[in-house]
Amino acid sequence: MTAYTASTPAVSREIHLAARPHGTPVPGDFRLVRTEVPEPGDGQVLVRNTWMSVDPYMRGRMDDTPSYVAPFEVGRVLEGHAVGEVVASRSPAVPVGATVAHFAGWREYALLAAADVTVLDVTDSRPQDHLHVLGQTGFTGYLAVTETAPVRQGDVVFVSGAAGAVGSVAGQLARKFGASRVVGSAGGPDKTRALTEEFGFDAALDHRAGPLAEQLAEAAPDGIDVYVDNVGGDHLQAAIGAMNSGGRVALVGMISGYNATGPVPGPANLYDAVLRQLTLRGLLVTAHLDRLPDYAARAARWLGDGSLRTKETVVEGVEHAPEAFLGVLSGANTGKMLVRL
Ligand code: NAP
Repeated sequence: MTAYTASTPAVSREIHLAARPHGTPVPGDFRLVRTEVPEPGDGQVLVRNTWMSVDPYMRGRMDDTPSYVAPFEVGRVLEGHAVGEVVASRSPAVPVGATVAHFAGWREYALLAAADVTVLDVTDSRPQDHLHVLGQTGFTGYLAVTETAPVRQGDVVFVSGAAGAVGSVAGQLARKFGASRVVGSAGGPDKTRALTEEFGFDAALDHRAGPLAEQLAEAAPDGIDVYVDNVGGDHLQAAIGAMNSGGRVALVGMISGYNATGPVPGPANLYDAVLRQLTLRGLLVTAHLDRLPDYAARAARWLGDGSLRTKETVVEGVEHAPEAFLGVLSGANTGKMLVRL
């Protein structure tokens, strides 16, 4: 059953955590390490990774603090979502040649139990789509506007981090599910242009260009009904200030505080949530993964009929994966940041 191809090299490269970052991570916090490509044992498969994901939540795993996932270990290979091709198999369930998704990213070759990979149907999709628009980031955007802060017909919706993986899907689906106006915020003119010209937002705010609350008041003069928060900080405060009575906030992420070295202050205007009877609700996509395949099937149809558009920023080579990760935190990506291996 094992079927190494002539092109399977003896050595694989992978990225280890060299040190826990203090504040904003730096290249020296990562180390490129060469390892031997192992042979699969019974029930195992060897995967040549073709794409890997870098995600903001990985920053939290680099700290030694309790969270919903265990911290990364210093001196060990990092992990995260990846897709690849099975190049050797000792499992009848996962044949050589299958395209699979799994959690052993940050490395060129991954030895995995067959039970830890998902065989992907890539007849109507590209493998890398399953790391974003058809995967967990797309599903997060979907859940935000359908369940966590459900959009109703005629709502005005504001999405922060709107040019990113989660935000770009949330904004487009808000429109699909009835929003009358969709406003997004992003950093810089190229991204704000992408919001209106490619993702169909009605208005785009550049959070690097001036005070957000003023820009939001101008873009949504009648207030907002739903806010999808990917950023926290000033964005959450501006959104609460602009919410209409009965408004809903999906707390998806707070990336503006991920590199903070001390406690991050909450919004100064939280009492407005009382006065306007707002709902602020947290979302963790990992609590809903049983429904990811259904979402992926629907989203693949929306991609096919053009009603959902997607973009990605691609960095080449595992040796540049740390750079891609640092880029997600600093805003180097439009759409999903991916590494092609
Ligand atoms: P992403 O939006 O594709 O990339 C992150 C973006 O955040 C950057 O491109 C940058 O865009 C923006 N950013 C960074 N620092 C910022 C700051 N100080 N102020 C404003 N914007 C800032 O990443 P993603 O994977 O889609 O994740 C987006 C958010 O969703 C993150 O907070 C993430 O943790 C969260 N998330 C949550 C779940 C869940 O289950 N709750 C699942 C997936 C993701 P600009 O250049 O536009 O600033």
